[in-house]
Amino acid sequence: SISSAAEKAIVVDSGRTYVFIACLRDLLPVYFVEKMSSLEIQDYAACDGQNRDVFREIKNDILRSIPKHGPSFQNNQIDEMIASVRSDMITRQQNDSVKLRCGEPCPRCEISCHLEAGHSSQNSEGKYSGTVTTPTLFTITAVTKQLLKVSKKSSSERFRKHDSCHQPIGLAGMIWDSHSSYPGQLCAPNCAMQVRNRQSFIHDNATHPYVKFDIVYPEWRLPSMEQQESLKLREYIFYNYQPQLAAAYSALSCSKIPSEYNHTLSTIKRQLENMIDGNSSD
Ligand SMILES: [Zn+2]
Ligand SMILES: [Zn+2]
Ligand SMILES: [Zn+2]
Repeated sequence: SISSAAEKAIVVDSGRTYVFIACLRDLLPVYFVEKMSSLEIQDYAACDGQNRDVFREIKNDILRSIPKHGPSFQNNQIDEMIASVRSDMITRQQNDSVKLRCGEPCPRCEISCHLEAGHSSQNSEGKYSGTVTTPTLFTITAVTKQLLKVSKKSSSERFRKHDSCHQPIGLAGMIWDSHSSYPGQLCAPNCAMQVRNRQSFIHDNATHPYVKFDIVYPEWRLPSMEQQESLKLREYIFYNYQPQLAAAYSALSCSKIPSEYNHTLSTIKRQLENMIDGNSSD
């Protein structure tokens, strides 16, 4: 960020400081921009008399002042830093440079929710439950939960149900039950197909139709084929690696894999490249 701001400032004749600062403002994370605003810079022409390379020199000075060898941290310090950075990111959703995902796995196919972190306060409870190791971390976690509750109240947009692009359920080790046509076999459809095909699943020793998915799991949105982009690489793996999957989950391999799962790696690669270029295609 600093170097591209410096490059821009070099080509301008007067008010170079202003250009440099304005570029930094656009490029740096909100956190630093707030710090910069508090400097209350008034004399933007002060540096115009300086050598044109002054901003490049500033950048080099900054880089030199960073120690060659980073400080060493203990594991619990690293845990605390991760938790505090994470909570900072969650409570700074206005920062467009970094957006953290929710990550809650689908209870059936285990694909992570792709909405932004903190969209559902139910999710954040228990998120850290396994990693609370020190009093400091516990405090950070408690504060994060408080902030999430506040943001939930202030923004209904942010409080949405979990949602994910569901994968072939068998990839998570799910098998058809003994009453089905394929008892013990890895399950080929994804959650959205199961809803469309009016299939059922077992949860808490009871059978539920997939159309009641969002009632059985109230914090989740009902999987829908219209909302869903198919996870072609996941389908490719399900199509091509049945013996390995069956062995990994001690299950029977799927005898009826949908032919639409038979993607080629080159198609998948092209689709990913298009996504990176920003031309969403299908
Ligand atoms: Zn799912
Ligand atoms: Zn979620
Ligand atoms: Zn998606």
